[in-house]
Amino acid sequence: MTHPAFANTRFFPFWLDSPAAPAVEPELRGERRAGVVVIGGGFTGLWAAIQAKEADPRQEVVLIEAGKVAHGASGRPCGIISTSIMHGLANAARVFPKDIDQLEELGRLNLDGFQRDLERFGIDADVEWNGELTAAIEPGHVDVLREDYELHLEHGHDMLLLDAGEARAQIDSPLFHGALWGRQRSGTIHPAKLAWGLKAAALKVGVKLYENSPLERIVEEGQDLVLHTPVGVVRTARAFFATGCAKVGIGDINRRVMNVQDHIMATEPLTAEQLARVGWQNRQGFYDTRTQLNYGRLTKDNRIIFGGSVTYHYGEHTDPDENRRPETYAGLVDAFFKTFPQLHDVKFSHAWGGPIDYCSRGSVFVTRYFGGKAVFVAGYTGFGVAASRFGATMGLNTLFGRKDAPEQKLDIARKGTAWIPPGILRWLGAKITFIAFDGADAEGGWKRAWIKSVKALGFPM
Ligand SMILES: Cc1cc2nc3c(=O)[nH]c(=O)nc-3n(C[C@H](O)[C@H](O)[C@H](O)COP(=O)(O)OP(=O)(O)OC[C@H]3O[C@@H](n4cnc5c(N)ncnc54)[C@H](O)[C@@H]3O)c2cc1C
Repeated sequence: MTHPAFANTRFFPFWLDSPAAPAVEPELRGERRAGVVVIGGGFTGLWAAIQAKEADPRQEVVLIEAGKVAHGASGRPCGIISTSIMHGLANAARVFPKDIDQLEELGRLNLDGFQRDLERFGIDADVEWNGELTAAIEPGHVDVLREDYELHLEHGHDMLLLDAGEARAQIDSPLFHGALWGRQRSGTIHPAKLAWGLKAAALKVGVKLYENSPLERIVEEGQDLVLHTPVGVVRTARAFFATGCAKVGIGDINRRVMNVQDHIMATEPLTAEQLARVGWQNRQGFYDTRTQLNYGRLTKDNRIIFGGSVTYHYGEHTDPDENRRPETYAGLVDAFFKTFPQLHDVKFSHAWGGPIDYCSRGSVFVTRYFGGKAVFVAGYTGFGVAASRFGATMGLNTLFGRKDAPEQKLDIARKGTAWIPPGILRWLGAKITFIAFDGADAEGGWKRAWIKSVKALGFPM
């Protein structure tokens, strides 16, 4: 039976459901030539197109997007902005321990540049710099938070470690046993407004942007790459793939990234009285420490966005109907009301799913194809709202052979990410892992042991 809170839910991203959505650009028709072609109009592709055009205003920069700008992952996130370009400090310490200081510095510079870009392009995307809070949902998880706290202090972060009372004074949930509140350079944003602002900025600096223009085929002809869309062709010396975990005809890409679908919901705007039941005066985005993590934030009009429920489909043939079925969100609704039982009278206005470009290093990577004439940039593993700006820079520096750029001297740019076993092995691994997610914390047993072994194999959870 459908949950009563889902009676009038629209199965579409709340962020994209807005009259402020810009007009759709025309599709690519006929033949043209470009200095750089960017494939994919999410955050990575938009930042890459802007940066390429600004680096050399004389060069023609073309961006082709299969559907509409931001209708991939970029119009669907929770919208928590984080400093890290490595999916968090602990992941940086796990993957590139010797480069951690430089990666931290690159993350800081990226966030400063992100803020500057919003200002200079006049993008109003409801940004709130309120930090991010990680809440321990079991007493035992407080020790994990303490370790994370010490690691952050070592690296100069402004952090507060909160006990249960202090955590609940921030966001009142009976599940919270403590929390870590990072107060610097992180916050929340309206992701669609960001993407639409970047689209306007790209057009303003002179990027030629074509929507409803999926790349169907790419071939090498002499020095050129020739990209075919249904009714257009574009020749170029350099191509930048910003296509997330979509299939674009390069098998190696899909061996490195895996398309995991995550699900998320928006409530109706809370009344002042409902909001008072949760507190949340500092309006931070939050994650919890559950293995199948839940996360949330407030919007400008005081809705709660609440997410964290993953599915995987064999061969990554995702099922669009899945996101339109109330049953898909049953576990998430349950998690919401366990987190905020005092909001028993709240209803959900929107629910949607979106792709997570999961990779084994848990952070953005760049790989080169066609002898270096093309690069592919993705792998944010659910953390790309701000890191995508850095991913664009790293991808362009690799594409243009700018060896002196700071990240090019580090393993983040020099090393790719490992292959994830394909086909049935991938499917089976994902299925067992997602079954183990439900219960690994509460029940332990084989579920916890499985999650531990998957982590030991180098897959981030
Ligand atoms: C539910 C959910 C919650 C999230 N929450 C957060 C969060 O709170 N904070 C955070 O930092 N990150 C979050 N993320 C991750 C973040 O949204 C992504 O990391 C980021 O949007 C990736 O941007 P992208 O441009 O690389 O990919 P995308 O936005 O997916 O862009 C890829 C684009 O390529 C296009 N494309 C694909 N194939 C072709 C083709 N053949 N030809 C042309 N174009 C093509 C697609 O249509 C798409 O528009 C979340 C993601 C999801 C799904």
